[in-house]
Amino acid sequence: MPGTEVLGRAVRKGRAAGPRLPLNRLRGGLSPVARVVAGVVLTGAAAAGLVVVLTPVAAAHHPVVHLGWLDGLALALVLVLLTCASELVAVRLHRQDADEELTLLDPMILVNVLLLPPREALSASIAGIALAYLIRSRAMVKALFNLGTYAAGSALMILLVRIGVGDEVDFHLRLVAALVLGTAGFVAVNVTAMSLLLAAMGAGRPSQLVREDLRSAAFTLMATVALTGTGVSVAAHTPALLPFVVLPAAAITYAYRVTAGEAEERQRSARVLAFSQVLASTPGRDVAVTAFLRLAREGFFADEVLAVLDGDGVLALGAADGDHPRALEATDVHRRLAARAAGGAAVLVDGLPAGWAGALVAPLEAGGGRLGAVVIGRYDRTKFGPRDQSVLTPLASALAVALRNAEHLTQLVEETSKLRAVVDQSSDGILVLDGSGVVQLWSPALERLSGHGEAEALGATLGELLDTRDAEGNPVDAFELGRQSLSPRTPRVAVDLELVREDGERRSVRCLHAAIFDAGGLVRDVVNVHDLTRQRQVEKLKSDFVATVSHELRTPVTPIKGYAEMLRRKGDSLPPEKRAKALDVIADRAAHLARLVEDLLLSSKISSETEPARSVVIQTADFGQLTTRATEDFTPSAARLRLRLPEQPVTVACDPTRTVQVLTNLISNALKYSPDDSLVDVEVSSADGRGRVTVVDRGRGLPADQLDRIFEKFHRVEDPMVMSTGGTGLGLYIARHLARAMSGDLEVTSTLGKGSTFTFHLPLAAPTLES
Ligand code: ADP
Repeated sequence: MPGTEVLGRAVRKGRAAGPRLPLNRLRGGLSPVARVVAGVVLTGAAAAGLVVVLTPVAAAHHPVVHLGWLDGLALALVLVLLTCASELVAVRLHRQDADEELTLLDPMILVNVLLLPPREALSASIAGIALAYLIRSRAMVKALFNLGTYAAGSALMILLVRIGVGDEVDFHLRLVAALVLGTAGFVAVNVTAMSLLLAAMGAGRPSQLVREDLRSAAFTLMATVALTGTGVSVAAHTPALLPFVVLPAAAITYAYRVTAGEAEERQRSARVLAFSQVLASTPGRDVAVTAFLRLAREGFFADEVLAVLDGDGVLALGAADGDHPRALEATDVHRRLAARAAGGAAVLVDGLPAGWAGALVAPLEAGGGRLGAVVIGRYDRTKFGPRDQSVLTPLASALAVALRNAEHLTQLVEETSKLRAVVDQSSDGILVLDGSGVVQLWSPALERLSGHGEAEALGATLGELLDTRDAEGNPVDAFELGRQSLSPRTPRVAVDLELVREDGERRSVRCLHAAIFDAGGLVRDVVNVHDLTRQRQVEKLKSDFVATVSHELRTPVTPIKGYAEMLRRKGDSLPPEKRAKALDVIADRAAHLARLVEDLLLSSKISSETEPARSVVIQTADFGQLTTRATEDFTPSAARLRLRLPEQPVTVACDPTRTVQVLTNLISNALKYSPDDSLVDVEVSSADGRGRVTVVDRGRGLPADQLDRIFEKFHRVEDPMVMSTGGTGLGLYIARHLARAMSGDLEVTSTLGKGSTFTFHLPLAAPTLES
């Protein structure tokens, strides 16, 4: 009786008869495949001819076994019909493998051979099979190949059985042996024809293919002989028991199908599990859909699976697509199919894409919204069952939820990246601390402000990261300080601090804390750090300016007031030389005042000017002469000044008045910021197309970090509150500006405590004809 392995013969046959025979190849001229088919058909015809010719020789006009109750034409007709039925009713064992079908054709052919005389047996077999092909409208080439194979096989079987049996009738050992022999011949022809065909299609070498088939062929042989022998014997002797021969076969088939079905369900469960693992990893849209399509294609034994996403095209995975779905434009067919999906999964048999025989559709619905539908299609008529429906419904929901989540995730990522851009672009530093002061977010502006990068900051506490001081200069923990003033009632506070960077630079910052509390206390502190340094500098500058200017203005005013008072009270009685001196002092201080006011005006003009050159009028002049003129203003200190001039004039392009002003400022500073008994060297020279004046003093010098700052407006190295020297901090600012306006420059080198060298250079004038 055929079992699970059993009728592997049928399996082989199925390969030829099944959908995988490449018809297109068969059509294309005399390909190797076409040659095999032609060979098989010819062999079949020849074998059939041989039977017809040899029958009289074998003198076998009678059947091997006589059925007492049916014979003649009626028997032949019944057998033709049974043969046809055995070919038509193929029981598909697996959904997975369309080839694995159970048919009773082989045993039926043997039945024909036993119950009919040779020619009739052959005719009945061929007629039955041909009738089945007509009913099924099989492709011509396939039908020819199969008919050829069966004709050849059956002919060989008839000859072998007849030779084996001789004159014996009924079931003796010899008959059984003859049956085995005949069936072996039949199976051998089948296996050979099939292997030749497969080899022609490129599946391997024929001998190897035959070997692969041997085991199942042996089982087929035994099963066919056993089933036929028993069946025919029972039919001849006790026809009433005939149904009991079929029953075990049916039972085994049923058991096999149940087992195979369970195995399929187990496989499907494993795939569902893999799919749910993919979903658990919160995948993106494409990953989730791809995982679903793969699961659905394998788990539902589908030929094509579609995910029709509303407004977003179709992703399709077919049998030939491998692991990656194709993206398709949604067609009307797709849209109509998707529209028919409502509620749970439903089976559809009409309105399907071309080539589909059946489909299973399910809507993709999540969170009250609809995202589209999934469609699972089969080309053959194996139907989707309620079990398929009940499996698909929750899977489609799971996919819909995953898609919805993926959508949310995408939105979230977009929103986050917008927020991140705000944080990154903000000129204020932004940081987020957790409840214990550990940094969770650190913006790029903070890196510029504090000198600590994001990588260093994340995970550290604010206290260990930043050196911050309060107004008195005492170290404080910026987070603790904020936390002390934060409470659910006052979740926002501002704290001003001084930040000491690792490079020693100090920054004034205002920390604006915005805290989030829950029942357990502070959960998060979002801090906006605003850099107040510049603002503070400006504020200091303003107050310094007022202090400086008022001091500077008052200094000359005091002697003017004193001498004017003196002249008013006893002007007439004063000796003329004393009066002249008083008037000199008044004139001198008034001139000083005028200069101060002039400086203030000029500096404010410079800051509002867009065109620096406007404050100068360029002419040519001898740098040496201008320097001499500048030193003449310092007659009282003449003994301290050493002027060195070159032999040749140094003709520069400059504004002579402004040049003298710059030089006066440099010489005055050199005298002012060095001891009264020290010398100041002033030297004029020229090199590299430039005229140069260096003013060298042996005074207090300048700290390195002040070298650039002394050229800033109002900047003085001295503290304005304890000034030992007078000055507005405008001189060098104006001087450098004028030097640059004349295409020259002003530079300084200095050693603290030893003295400074200021170098003022100007471009040499283009030589004229006279010079
Ligand atoms: P003022 O002399 O009126 O203060 P300046 O702009 O001329 O303003 O100079 C700015 C500052 O630069 C001075 O306050 C002084 O501290 C410093 N300075 C200028 N020249 C010298 C120098 N030769 N030696 C040391 N310090 C100097």
